[in-house]
Amino acid sequence: MSYDRCETCGEFGWLDTHKCPPIFYFKHEDWDLEPREVRAHSFSDAAEKFARIYNEDDGDYVLMDEDTEVIISDGNIEKKYIVSAEPDIYYSSREV
Ligand SMILES: [Zn+2]
Repeated sequence: MSYDRCETCGEFGWLDTHKCPPIFYFKHEDWDLEPREVRAHSFSDAAEKFARIYNEDDGDYVLMDEDTEVIISDGNIEKKYIVSAEPDIYYSSREV
């Protein structure tokens, strides 16, 4: 048994028992008209994965300032989501 990153979906797991989550497609007005594939556990999971890809594209982090609309499809049904991002805050202290 080996615990590793699946080359198909990018998730970590026991590769001998791992099953990739299903394929969803996302469409966004800024990107090419062809829907892009993403492996996800649900429509909202796919929307969040889109948000990460979109936000980190070109290193622009546009979702820190604005929402955007994306269409998620499972090849059958289409659902519309508004996605956004919030940064994590890390607190620290040091004695002076
Ligand atoms: Zn997989």
